[in-house]
Amino acid sequence: MTGYDLKRFALLGEPLGHSMSPALHKAIYRQLEIDDASYRTVELPQERLKSFFTGFRVGGFDGVNVTIPHKASVIDLLDEVDSKARLLNAVNCVNRTGNQLTGYNTDLLGFGYSLRQNNVEIEGNQFAIIGAGGSAQAVGAVLADGEAKKVSIVNRTPERAEELKATILSVNEAIDVELISAEDLAQNAKNLDCVVNTTSVGMSPNVTDSPLPSGFFTENTLAFDLVYNPLETQFLKDAKAQGASVVNGVQMLVAQAVYSVEIWMGGNIVAHVDMNALVRDLEKTIK
Ligand code: NAP
Repeated sequence: MTGYDLKRFALLGEPLGHSMSPALHKAIYRQLEIDDASYRTVELPQERLKSFFTGFRVGGFDGVNVTIPHKASVIDLLDEVDSKARLLNAVNCVNRTGNQLTGYNTDLLGFGYSLRQNNVEIEGNQFAIIGAGGSAQAVGAVLADGEAKKVSIVNRTPERAEELKATILSVNEAIDVELISAEDLAQNAKNLDCVVNTTSVGMSPNVTDSPLPSGFFTENTLAFDLVYNPLETQFLKDAKAQGASVVNGVQMLVAQAVYSVEIWMGGNIVAHVDMNALVRDLEKTIK
């Protein structure tokens, strides 16, 4: 694919540390033979967000990804917000058309993609979401949309768990949603089809931490960790040791990036990229 005008993209957040997004986006452009696009990180404190968007709107960038802590606060700076992103109060992808800025949530699309690739049936199944932050909102919306039978939420802060429950029920009021402690959930763990860790617990460098007690899983459970560094978190190690299937967050990360590129450039990009090759390359970088 060639012939694009020079396009400028960026990731906004703070702190961004050693973000993998520039390397990932460059790998996507390489695969698509797009040699006239750039992607960089822009570390931005809250007080500079508004002025950044003033420049973005008049052509400073063609599109941006947004990460912690700006996913909610960018919403007020946009002209339009996709209905799902508005519901989740989280935008992680902004597209500029002329002077118009539109916000989307591609974490949601990435999570749905990864579930499909791993043949995880949502309809009629029982899920647990560990955590209730921004990414949990996207996970909850996908499970509600897919008509999960039951979603159990475990979170340190009860108010955020209540917000997640409200989001799930606003997508699909027929879902049985419970707020529960990890200890109580462990009693019924054998009924769970899939447990999704959406907390940052276990992320490098705290690689021996897990958000759940070991001994939680059964061989019928799928353990899905949104964390991708390390590739095999303690949560996934515990699950594997008990015979559960495991999925890490790399495929979701790759897919949310590819969906962002599709929003910015149009066309059916998702069908044109070799997602598995992108996942393999990123996994090599993380190892
Ligand atoms: P967030 O909005 O800040 O939410 C973090 C969640 O983790 C909250 O529920 C928080 O609980 C919980 N938490 C944090 N530290 C904890 C601790 N020590 N003990 C118990 N709970 C703790 O963050 P986010 O955007 O949802 O991201 C969460 C993780 O998902 C990050 O590791 C991120 O890298 C990953 N992620 C991966 C992808 C992907 O594509 N693979 C996409 C998005 C996010 P409280 O509510 O009690 O504070």
